[in-house]
This record gives sequence, C-alpha cells and structure tokens, in this order.
Amino acid sequence: MGDFVAMPKLGMTMKEGTITKWLVCEGDAVEKGDYIFETETDKTALEVDSLLSGKLLKIYHFEGETVKVNDPVAYIGEEGERAPELTVALADAVDAVDAVGAAPVEPSPAPAVATAPASHTLGSAAPTPVLQAASGEARPGFDKAKRPYGEFLYDLIVIGSGPGGYVAAIRAAQLGAKVAVAEKGEIGGTCLNRGCIPTKALYASARRYRDVKAAESMGVSVDKVSFSWKKIQSRKDAVVEQLRSGVEGLLKKNGIDVLRGEARIVKAHEVKVGRKSYSAAFALIATGATPSSVVKAGAEVMNTDEALSLAKLPKSIAILGGGVIGCEFAGIFSAFGVKTTIIELMPRILPPVDAEVADALASKMEGEGIALKLGVTADDIKKSKRGYDVSLSSGETVTADLVVEAVGRRPETRAFESLGAATDGKGYLVTDAFMRTDIDGVYAIGDITGKHQLAHAASAQGILAVEHMFKGVQGSSIDIMPSCIFGAYEIAAVGLTEEQAKASGVPYSVYKFPYSANGKALTMGETGGFAKVIKDERWGEILGVHIIGADASSLIEEAVMAMSLEATASVAGGTIHPHPTLSEILMEAFLGADGGAIHL
Ligand SMILES: Cc1cc2nc3c(=O)[nH]c(=O)nc-3n(C[C@H](O)[C@H](O)[C@H](O)COP(=O)(O)OP(=O)(O)OC[C@H]3O[C@@H](n4cnc5c(N)ncnc54)[C@H](O)[C@@H]3O)c2cc1C
Repeated sequence: MGDFVAMPKLGMTMKEGTITKWLVCEGDAVEKGDYIFETETDKTALEVDSLLSGKLLKIYHFEGETVKVNDPVAYIGEEGERAPELTVALADAVDAVDAVGAAPVEPSPAPAVATAPASHTLGSAAPTPVLQAASGEARPGFDKAKRPYGEFLYDLIVIGSGPGGYVAAIRAAQLGAKVAVAEKGEIGGTCLNRGCIPTKALYASARRYRDVKAAESMGVSVDKVSFSWKKIQSRKDAVVEQLRSGVEGLLKKNGIDVLRGEARIVKAHEVKVGRKSYSAAFALIATGATPSSVVKAGAEVMNTDEALSLAKLPKSIAILGGGVIGCEFAGIFSAFGVKTTIIELMPRILPPVDAEVADALASKMEGEGIALKLGVTADDIKKSKRGYDVSLSSGETVTADLVVEAVGRRPETRAFESLGAATDGKGYLVTDAFMRTDIDGVYAIGDITGKHQLAHAASAQGILAVEHMFKGVQGSSIDIMPSCIFGAYEIAAVGLTEEQAKASGVPYSVYKFPYSANGKALTMGETGGFAKVIKDERWGEILGVHIIGADASSLIEEAVMAMSLEATASVAGGTIHPHPTLSEILMEAFLGADGGAIHL
C-alpha cells in the first residue's frame, strides 16, 4: 500500500510552493531519499526527496503549478496498485501527511540551501523582514500604492494617535510624506493612557511590593513594609505623562501636524476634523477600540478605564472576565491585598492561550488567593449594604466592594460611519494584506481591524500600511506575532498553541523546560514556571513557544527572532547563551525539543 507525497512546509510562513521541475516521471522506481521534484516559494527553491520507496504511480501537479502546503503532489505505491484520484487525495491530505509527508528537507534554515533562479533573488538570500528601513524608491517588482490624481493638502491623514496611528505617522514622515494626525483624546491612545503603560506601571509597583515583602527569604530584613495607593497612582500618572509628552515631541520633530478634535472621513480623500475639512491623498484609520459591556443597563459596574484611576483601593473586587485584561487587573489588585474574584463564562481563564500555560497561571492565582469562578455568568448585580451582590448562573453570590467589567473591547467606528467601508460582523474594518480597506486610498490598522488587540501589532501594521503607500513593501506577512500577559506570573507566547498544533494535523512534539532547573532562576528565587516549545516533527521547525514565569515578556523575543528567521529548534538551541541567565531556560527548551536538554 502506497502513500501520498505532499507539498512540504519549508518555513514558518510558507503557505504554498510552485513545482518548478519534476526529477522523476510517472512509472519510475523511486528509492527513499531520492530527489523527486524541485519546488520554489517566495523565499527559496529546494529539491524535495521521497520518504518512501516504490513506484511513482501518479503526479497530481505539474511543473509551473502552485500547490498549498500539505496538499498532495504525487502518489508512490506498489506495482499494480491504483493511485487515488485527486479529489480523494485532497480529502486524505492531512492524514497522508501525518503518515508519510513529503520528504523533510535539511533541518537548517531554508535559504541556506536555496538554488533560486536569478529572478527569485529578492528575499531568497536571507529571510526578509517585512518592515525594512526606508531607502526611498520602491523595490523592483513591488509597486507603491497608486497615488490618486489631484492636489491634496496632505499626503496622509491618520485618524487616531495610538501606537498604530502615531507610529505610522512618524514612519510616513520619515519617508517624506506630509502628514497630519487627528486625535480627539489624548496623544498616545489606549496603550499609553488607558492600557499597556498605566497597567504596567501599577504592575511594577505590585511586583516591588511583593518582592520587598519576600525580602527576608533573601536575607534582607525590612522592618515595616507598606504602600501608599495615592503615591502609586501619582507615579503611574507621571510615567504616562512623561511618555505622552515624548510622543508629542516625536510628532513635532517629524513635522507632523496634530489636528485636535473628532475626525470623520466624509469620502475618500476628504477628512473633517470638527468643522474643518482637509484633503489627503491617503487616509489611515487607527481609531482603536473601547471597553465593551455585557452587563444589563443600570447595573453599577466600572470599566477598565475607570478602574485604572481608582482614588481608593477597595477591600474586595469582582472582575467580570478572565481574559488578558481581567487577569492583569486581578494580579495587581490582589498583590495589594484586595480580595479578588474573577468571574468567567468559559471553563478556563485566558481561552486563547495554550491550555497548559493558562492552567499554570490559574493555579498560581488560586495559590495567591484569587478566587476563580469559571464556566459561569454574572446574571444580576445589585447594590447592597455590603457592596455589590453579583448573582452567578451557578446560584452562588459573590459580594464585593467594587465590580469591574473586563469582557472585551468594541470597535471605535464613528470616524468612518458614513464611508461605507466593509466591516466584519462585529463592526471591525476588513483589510487586505497591506491594510487597505475596500475604499480607494483608505487604510486601517490596529484594534479597529479586529486582527489582534496588541500595541505592537498596531505599530507593525501602521508601518506596513505607510510603506505600502509611499515606498512599496516587499512582503505583507506579519504573522509571527508575540503576545505577553502580566499577571501573577508573566506569560509570553508566539506561534501555535498545543491545541492549534493538534488541530492543524501536522505531526508535532512538545518539550518543556522548568525554571526550577535554571541556575539564575534559583538565585532570583523565581523557580515557578516553564518554557514550552512545540516543534514540527518532520523538519524541526519551531511552531510555537510559550513561556510562563519571571521575565517571560523579555525572553520571548528570542523565539520570535528564531521563528522569523525560520531557525529549527536545533539551530536555536545551538546558539550560545550567556550564563547564568534566564535565557538559558529557552535554550534548554530548544535543545530538549531537539532531543537533548543538558540540565534535566
Ligand atoms: C487595560 C489594557 C491593557 C493593555 N495592555 C497591553 C499590553 O500590555 N500590551 C499590548 O500589546 N497591548 C495591550 N493593550 C492593548 C493595546 O492598548 C491596544 O491594542 C492598542 O492601544 C491599539 O492601538 P491602536 O492604535 O489601534 O488604537 P488606540 O490605542 O485605541 O488609539 C486610538 C486613538 O484614536 C482616537 N480616536 C478614535 N476615534 C477618533 C476620531 N473619530 N477622531 C479622532 N480620534 C479618534 C482615540 O481617542 C485614541 O486615542 C491593553 C489594552 C488595555 C485596555
């Protein structure tokens, strides 16, 4: 009984390959390891060898055809056997790849063995970062966006000055564009004023308080440990203020006009800010999102914007929502002694996170006294003498001084309500690979696209969009997107979760290396947590990396870099890491995924 030969996945970002040459013909005898065809991707060209010995009974795709990764290209079987038709083959493709797959290529980054023809040299010599330094002219073969005919006051008007908008504006100005940013609120958007920065300032105070309380275990005596919530809040505000004026300074330095007020795109190339109209060759919508609410009108709950600036700490708090923001808030409040309860509809916290990692955080939170009410809804919230009584679908009642709703975000759509741009079912703008909406000359980036709700994603998309407008970009893949959570433990991740790897049908293996086996972690008293590497069993490619533990947010970038450069686990683990550092945890996890962690 024979099996299929599938188009191999030669790199993290490869989605399809073109068959450039068949090296064998139907009817030929093939030995395991023989090169059978050549394939080319946007980055490389490689010869693919067979994992089977037998007769090449059927070729499904011929030279010049492009085939999706894991789809069958041929069938190798025994003399007299009948090869399945392509429809059957496609249905069985995933199984076939599980069982046999196409021949793995050398477990080194693909470009090293590239045999690309001259026409393919763009990006084949080295994996090409999507967002490259500007050098003026569009690269050959990659057009800038078509500039509309006519005279405009600005080359670009950006609506919204969050990490998407202000970064895009600066990049566009660096590329020589005349740029304005319209902002109805504070410069810096959610991230700087109500998101990443204020939460991390509070988180830093919480960690410092925790560390000082635990100082005795490190031989350091501190007589009386206390905190001032007022001072913690003032410090947070000062950090925000400093960064905000920094961004304002950057906009000024780059000659960007700031148009204060609510902006609206009247039609393509015309933006109204307040009563004034401005013309622009391009408009970029970066209006972000605001807290959404599922609680019945009338119930007294706070949203996360309000909870960040509490004048006084409550004695107890109920947080509706066990997603990223809910867990971060829980970690902060609980660290300062607030009795904290998370109420989450799903059976576990952090539903999109790797389940094993989310479970580890849940245990840590419970260990720190945070109550988790999972798989329940808050059906009613009533003010009582004791605070608020939150009635759960389980019949239980949670009583707290304060209820905070952290149930997600909704798109901020007012800027484009009359534009008629395509949105998805939730109101987020639909964009293409270059962040273009379906309205000519109008792009959208960041939270308003509903793709990721991450500041660095917004910035990367902003750079991509303006490089497309004014320069011509080489690629549009911003798939390798890390994310971080700052809770009772730090979590950082990139790539597939184990659940996603399983669902993809690709054969994978998992290796975990614990913080407790790392010398530096022991010296720091930070032995909780692990790094988990998910590897494609066929050619060693790193599919996902998940870290939970101290400084996870700083450690993850190495995995992002490795995956962006399409390094195998073996190559990533083989690079030299300084000792003693937490970075050795990731090194050991990569080595372990390759079959040989040293310190375990
Ligand atoms: C509590 C919290 C913590 C977070 N922590 C993190 C984190 O640690 N890491 C991370 O990566 N992400 C984090 N995020 C998410 C991050 O803040 C967002 O993904 C990011 O801010 C999105 O950037 P953006 O530029 O798309 O939009 P925003 O930052 O939301 O900016 C949009 C801007 O547009 C303006 N605007 C809207 N409509 C108009 C209009 N019509 N006219 C003029 N101006 C308009 C708004 O006033 C706003 O300033 C957090 C979010 C929250 C709420």
